[in-house]
Amino acid sequence: MLDVSSHESPGLTLTTAQDDLRARARKLAQTLCKPAAATVDQTEEYPWETVAALTEAGFMGMSVPSSLGGPGRTCFEVALVVEEFARCCGVSGRIAVEGNMGALGAILAYGTALQREMAARHVLAGDKLAICITEPGAGSAATEMTTTAVRQGDAWVLDGEKHWITGGGVSKLHLIFARVVEDGVFRGIGGFMAYRGEAGLVIGAREPTMGLRGIPETQVLMQGLRLPLDRLITPPEGIEHGFAGLMNAYNAQRVGAATVALGIAQGAFEEACAFVKQREQFGRPIAEFQGLQWMLADMSMQIEAARMMVWRAALSAETTDSGFPDPMMAAQAKVFTSEMAVKVTNDALQLHGASGYSRNHPVERMVRDARMFTIGGGTAQMLRNLIAGKVLDMKTPQTRGGYTSAGAE
Ligand SMILES: Cc1cc2nc3c(=O)[nH]c(=O)nc-3n(C[C@H](O)[C@H](O)[C@H](O)COP(=O)(O)OP(=O)(O)OC[C@H]3O[C@@H](n4cnc5c(N)ncnc54)[C@H](O)[C@@H]3O)c2cc1C
Repeated sequence: MLDVSSHESPGLTLTTAQDDLRARARKLAQTLCKPAAATVDQTEEYPWETVAALTEAGFMGMSVPSSLGGPGRTCFEVALVVEEFARCCGVSGRIAVEGNMGALGAILAYGTALQREMAARHVLAGDKLAICITEPGAGSAATEMTTTAVRQGDAWVLDGEKHWITGGGVSKLHLIFARVVEDGVFRGIGGFMAYRGEAGLVIGAREPTMGLRGIPETQVLMQGLRLPLDRLITPPEGIEHGFAGLMNAYNAQRVGAATVALGIAQGAFEEACAFVKQREQFGRPIAEFQGLQWMLADMSMQIEAARMMVWRAALSAETTDSGFPDPMMAAQAKVFTSEMAVKVTNDALQLHGASGYSRNHPVERMVRDARMFTIGGGTAQMLRNLIAGKVLDMKTPQTRGGYTSAGAE
């Protein structure tokens, strides 16, 4: 009988070390995260115990290089681990992403020695970094953000409002994007490191979210937040073109988001496979009905295709100049996998009949948890814009006036 839990993808062979890494993650996910997932969802509390276990096991800061005290794992290896956690608990999967990608990647790639050391230290101690880009008036049009960082003598003073910030109130280190203004002149969009508890960094209201309820999504307000000059991250392109550079790090986050969606879909698929074999109607297991068999066959194909796209995008980071995944592959993987996860989790619920609709059953949570990945980290529509631009080899400006002032990719 096919072991649906092995989900080995033929054609790509893991090294023994990668196989061991994934097995370690799988064991921790099955023994710690799976039993806790329903409680995390119901209480909506950040799973500090899980974070401590992830940290202890070396799954936070996996991408930190050995020169900074980390194991220096590749994007592909991080993805192997993330899928295992997400398969059991979407919240744990997301924590594993943000403890290894996103803001961390940007700081490690573009930060000074001190900035890199600070970020590495935080994440290796279990901090899930927060990335603060989105504002009430600037979602997909991120470059229309209005938060400012004005140079005042030996400090940057930040004012503005971010919302939908994952980890607001639990993350210690924040990477905050703002319009950099010096001598009254707008220079570009920059990223600033700020720590929870610093005067002027205010955690605002929490969103009552549909899924992934164990991680707070909050407003983050900058109210005269005064930061030393060395908190600005400056990519090699310079501050004028810095936003595009910093957003390059987001390609890893996109692969991470796709991987969480993949893991959630895999988890729901396994629930469905087990259920149809034990549920009997009309005197036989419902697994014997061909209509349901074909649903499961389609689900397995969609999951496998998504895994191939995720793995390919993750592996691309090993050959790009930037060290981040190829933007096109990352976007394709995120769109395909997030939409696949919405469908597969929904089909898994359908296969359970009424019991799948009960909040006592994990597939109900998985449907809600999967839903966000077509939105956060670049919507499916915005990523299709990016993909179309590459397919057509055309710039595809979204603003009425034509081109945005700072590259929105
Ligand atoms: C759970 C969750 C976690 C998040 N975490 C973070 C975080 O940690 N940090 C952070 O900075 N942000 C975060 N976000 C915000 C996220 O990045 C934004 O929600 C996203 O960029 C979309 O912005 P918006 O919600 O304002 O939608 P809008 O930009 O207002 O879009 C509304 C709709 O219009 C479509 N649309 C807009 N412009 C175009 C266009 N040009 N072409 C086609 N369609 C278009 C969109 O696809 C969408 O369907 C998070 C969001 C969620 C849901």
